[in-house]
Amino acid sequence: MIKAVTGTKDILPAEIPGWKYLESVVERIFRSFNYKEIRTPVFEETGLFARGIGEETDIVGKEMYTFIDRSETSITLKPEMTASVVRAYIEHSLGKQQQLNKLYYLSPMFRQERPQAGRQRQFHQFGCEALGSASPLLDAEIIIVAFSILKELGLKDIKVKLNSLGVPSSRENYKKILREFLKGSVKKLSEDSRKRYDANILRIFDSKIECDQEVMKDAPLLLDFIDEESKNDFELVKTLLTQSGIPFEVDPRLVRGLDYYTKTTFEIVSGKVGAQSALCGGGRYDLLIEQLGGVPAPGVGFAAGMERILLACENERTLNLPPESIDIYIIKLDKELTAAAFQTVLELRKSRLTAELDYLDRSVKAQMREANKLNARFVLFVGGDEYKSGKLNLKNMSTGEQRLFGMNDFQQIVQLIKM
Ligand code: AMP
Repeated sequence: MIKAVTGTKDILPAEIPGWKYLESVVERIFRSFNYKEIRTPVFEETGLFARGIGEETDIVGKEMYTFIDRSETSITLKPEMTASVVRAYIEHSLGKQQQLNKLYYLSPMFRQERPQAGRQRQFHQFGCEALGSASPLLDAEIIIVAFSILKELGLKDIKVKLNSLGVPSSRENYKKILREFLKGSVKKLSEDSRKRYDANILRIFDSKIECDQEVMKDAPLLLDFIDEESKNDFELVKTLLTQSGIPFEVDPRLVRGLDYYTKTTFEIVSGKVGAQSALCGGGRYDLLIEQLGGVPAPGVGFAAGMERILLACENERTLNLPPESIDIYIIKLDKELTAAAFQTVLELRKSRLTAELDYLDRSVKAQMREANKLNARFVLFVGGDEYKSGKLNLKNMSTGEQRLFGMNDFQQIVQLIKM
């Protein structure tokens, strides 16, 4: 028996209404902020991610699904969307058509991580990238978008964590200070953090391991060393969020994994999804477009994990979606009318109703049971004495009321159901 690959999941019909609802909220809110949807291929040349995300990050270092295709090209299934969107933005000169491009997406992502609750190898993200403006208004705007989506889903136990990473020059300067601070304590760090000491020192703040946290608790904080411009932008972002009623807390230890961030970074965490508490993360990346070969332009964006958000909704019991129903079920009373019943159901579907009939040669009683199971709002009886006298019997399943219609009154039936 072949099973789904470790870390991948089927999304079964019973789960689809939750997904559709989430997608509809995402699309509605992005549209109200005037973001346009973008779709990019599921795979890209490996070099895009290596250059865009950074060789030293966990994603590029150990999590990518990379393979050589038949034309000897190294291909990677996309582990995140920002690099792909920026590639498309550069390739199609979107910045020439209009200076600011506000783009959103929904897409599967692929990372070979250790599967656990809230961590899969194929998962889904929605998110956005606003390319072409350095204005802190956009930093605040995308946080407001992300927060509004989560609020609209009914989540209460969520928190915005906010930090600024400054610009590379102030960050490089700070890294020296941090390296100096840690010099004497490297031996006390975990093996992973010792590696990060050389490769990606800021990420030591991400470690949940006790010995690392013990060493890092008195470490100097980047936020105290950022440049004037970053500081001013950060103040404005905070003011805009406060003014918009978004509760946030400054977390100077929030560094995030990717190299390309500058200035604002943020995460939204849930108290209800266990160890993998981050629902959403993002920030500003003013150097990425240039780094990927484009005309220099600033950018800011976020990505949110859809599985984790749905898990949080489940745990907070927020999605009380109405049970699925159909408009009408055709009950065939006589076997000889199979073709007529089939024709009738097709006509109803042409009138844009969700209509169904029996495909299993069931008894009338069993067809009635099926109509109830499908939550049919109406049933239409095809057959019996009424049919012989040129009539169809329509039953309203919630009131029990029955009405006879002439065979030519088909549109009346449709109108009544659509009411
Ligand atoms: P990142 O692109 O790593 O900043 O992740 C953004 C969001 O995507 C996270 O906050 C999670 O909600 C989600 N996410 C990241 N990796 C995974 C994964 N392996 N499985 C499920 N969700 C994930």
